[in-house]
Amino acid sequence: MNGKDLLFSYGEIKENGGLKTIKQLDTDVFNEAVEKPAFFEELKAEIKFSVGADSILLECKINGILKLECSRCGEFFKYRFEENFDETYADSVEYIDVLNLLYQALVMAVPMKSLCAENCRGRCPVCKKNLNTGQCDCRMEPDSPFKILKEQTDAKSQKKTYSVQKRF
Ligand SMILES: [Zn+2]
Ligand SMILES: [Zn+2]
Repeated sequence: MNGKDLLFSYGEIKENGGLKTIKQLDTDVFNEAVEKPAFFEELKAEIKFSVGADSILLECKINGILKLECSRCGEFFKYRFEENFDETYADSVEYIDVLNLLYQALVMAVPMKSLCAENCRGRCPVCKKNLNTGQCDCRMEPDSPFKILKEQTDAKSQKKTYSVQKRF
């Protein structure tokens, strides 16, 4: 795909009584529409022109997969999206530049918040392990701030009472 693939002649569409086409888009072209490190992995556009009395209506649907970096755990994840838009062109137009319209629509496709999951557990602030993949050794009992103190006390206690204390 290059830019010319997305430039349509008004006269030709009118002559043919309309046009319907599906295009796989070159993600490299559109990656500039999103802020790094996000990038498009897949992009497809369904383009439909309908001829009216003295105008042409363009209806467009874009499907795609955006790879986003989770703001909590830093892992990349797939974000599927769909954008729809339409535009009307008057008879005076010679060419219809769909590339430009797609570009603008894709700028809008990026979500404000990027989380791999609503309940992403992020990373351990100490060892940086991704906690979605399991716990690290730094925080066996995250809900017990007294754990370290308790362990120290346990260590000092006799081994017989250790197992009893552990139950609490
Ligand atoms: Zn995450
Ligand atoms: Zn850790």
